[in-house]
Amino acid sequence: MLKCLGCMCTVNDIQSLLQHMRRHVKSREKVLCPFSNCAFESNVLSTFKAHVSKKHHPYDTDALKGDILICQTVNDNVIDDSSTTLDSVS
Ligand SMILES: [Zn+2]
Ligand SMILES: [Zn+2]
Repeated sequence: MLKCLGCMCTVNDIQSLLQHMRRHVKSREKVLCPFSNCAFESNVLSTFKAHVSKKHHPYDTDALKGDILICQTVNDNVIDDSSTTLDSVS
């Protein structure tokens, strides 16, 4: 079982893992290459796909990093609902 540390979900095989990672990339999250001895990271879907198929195909489950860390969510949209200013008349 492979685990995505980004969203804590698990997948059963490499294909599903890669599919799952693509979803993260599509939402502009940066993913790290799940294979060991590889420090590749990207948040561009085409780049990621090209890297994985060029460098790691055919996929070898044994070559995967143990616990797989996938995504770093970059999200600056902080919802601030406390900014309702009350203009009290003095
Ligand atoms: Zn995930
Ligand atoms: Zn790689």
